[in-house]
Amino acid sequence: MRFSELAEYYEKLEATSKRLELVDILSKLFKEAKAEEIGKICYLIQGRVAPFFEPVEIGMAESMVAQSIGRAFNKSKDEVIKLYRHKGNMGIAAAQLSTNAKRLTTKALSVTEVFEELAKIAKFSGKGTVEQKVSTLAQVLKSLDSTSVKHVVNIPLGTLRLGIGDPTVLDALSIAKTGDKKLRPMLEGAYNKTSDLGYVAENFFRKGEAGIRSVKLIIGKPIRPALAERLPNAEEAVKRLGGEFAAEPKFDGFRVAVHKNGNKIELFSRNLEDMTHAFPDLVEGAVKEVKAKTAILEGEAIAYNPVTEEFLPFQETTKRRRKYKIEEMAKQLPLVLFAFDLLYLNGKDITEKPYWQRRKLLESIIHSDNKVVRLAQERTLHTAQEITKFFNEEISEGLEGLMLKKLNSPYVAGGRGFHWIKFKRSQAGELTDSVDCVLLGVYSGRGKRTEFGVGGLLVGIYDAKRDEFVTISRVGTGLTDEEFRKVKVISDKLQVAKKPARVNSKIEPSFWVEPKVVLEIYADEITRSPIHTAGWDSSTGSGFALRFPRLVKFREADKRPEDATTVSEIMKMYKDQFKKKH
Ligand code: AMP
Repeated sequence: MRFSELAEYYEKLEATSKRLELVDILSKLFKEAKAEEIGKICYLIQGRVAPFFEPVEIGMAESMVAQSIGRAFNKSKDEVIKLYRHKGNMGIAAAQLSTNAKRLTTKALSVTEVFEELAKIAKFSGKGTVEQKVSTLAQVLKSLDSTSVKHVVNIPLGTLRLGIGDPTVLDALSIAKTGDKKLRPMLEGAYNKTSDLGYVAENFFRKGEAGIRSVKLIIGKPIRPALAERLPNAEEAVKRLGGEFAAEPKFDGFRVAVHKNGNKIELFSRNLEDMTHAFPDLVEGAVKEVKAKTAILEGEAIAYNPVTEEFLPFQETTKRRRKYKIEEMAKQLPLVLFAFDLLYLNGKDITEKPYWQRRKLLESIIHSDNKVVRLAQERTLHTAQEITKFFNEEISEGLEGLMLKKLNSPYVAGGRGFHWIKFKRSQAGELTDSVDCVLLGVYSGRGKRTEFGVGGLLVGIYDAKRDEFVTISRVGTGLTDEEFRKVKVISDKLQVAKKPARVNSKIEPSFWVEPKVVLEIYADEITRSPIHTAGWDSSTGSGFALRFPRLVKFREADKRPEDATTVSEIMKMYKDQFKKKH
């Protein structure tokens, strides 16, 4: 496929914010793609040259890109920047300059050629990198038509914002090959195991359904984590879990997946980011203490004070997520990983094995005298009384609560279902759990808050059935000055000119932001409201809202927007409130 043809699709995608139209346009694009280019197209439409979890960044700032554009079209960098300020978008400025410029070749570049050049730019390192990046991009721009120029420029800048989520791509892949969405669940299963849309798409295009079925866990590709459900009380949990089930403490740190291949360790966060360089202490611990040639295991990392040997609260642990002074922080606040599941062992994907067998295998590779990678404590329980007793013990130790696990369940990558049930200490009294919301918009500040440029937040949750974000609350309280400033920094980065694709709202904030950041919010109650679109019921003209919402913490390094609380979870929480009261 020629890149100019892909650029026409970018134009169409950019012109709509409706999910169904996005799916329709994408499926037409995919239909035209060959198997050897489908993977690259999947990355390119999300503005990347690798799956999102690979830390491959093209990494060119505005001024560097302006320099490339200038070089391609015989203008000075300042002239480019001036036009960019005037137009408000670097791509549009570059397209205008390219209209009158002479093209370098008459042969149109293919998608693969442009992809490879961009991937090359991402790989330059060391001395002379800037010049190499600038000249390679200039060369590409010179060889493209102006519509292609407009979109290619946005890729190194990271400003290609088409709003295409992974579920949208999965739907479109199925439609492209079969005319409907019937293969979506199967494609999603393969995606959940590898998190790599390009890889799944290529397997599918090369080998059809058999290609999707053959996708297994791969060391180095993060697995979409299994998720926990909530229930209103211990009695309901016993009903769901059957006569015998496992219970583990719920640690309040952050989830880490350890991929081990001999002495090579890779670490991934809950939202599948590569964290290997951030946690040298965990890497060393895993090399020494995990007794397996190859393995993928999951656990919760918590910081502890090496002097008093106490585990630290989340606010301390989260300091380990900072990207600077890594070695120093590793000494000050070393991490312990409480391993709670094993997904892959010595060359085999073991996610289909029941939980109790995986746990046995986990016990065989994690020894009890380990210092860094330890086993999460586990008990086998039978009754609601036992749950309450264990829960109270853990709470008094300062932990968050319990995780209950079905003994005969497989590991369900990316899925809920009542395989895991969480019981958290309730801080707000009424709700049994907080709500993970996505930041959708910002209200400008008044009074003291003018100083921060932020007065309040518009937040939403995820409607998984429609793959869109719906509003649930405005949040103005519970934020410290530091948090207001943080919101300002985040929103400056994510601010967009119009309501983003896949956001469904009846109200307008002062400005919209790209749905990216997840915030954990406590509220007193879930109520019905005519202004919010979460769980909208047209017969009553109301959706769900949070009463007295307040911010608990940012979960930006932890959850992706599609991992926010879903509409069906909110509906359940709404109903559970009544069960608890009566
Ligand atoms: P939540 O994020 O509140 O929905 O709770 C699920 C999270 O609890 C998981 O993603 C883990 O990070 C964390 N967690 C803590 N202890 C455990 C455990 N024993 N088993 C599974 N997950 C745990």
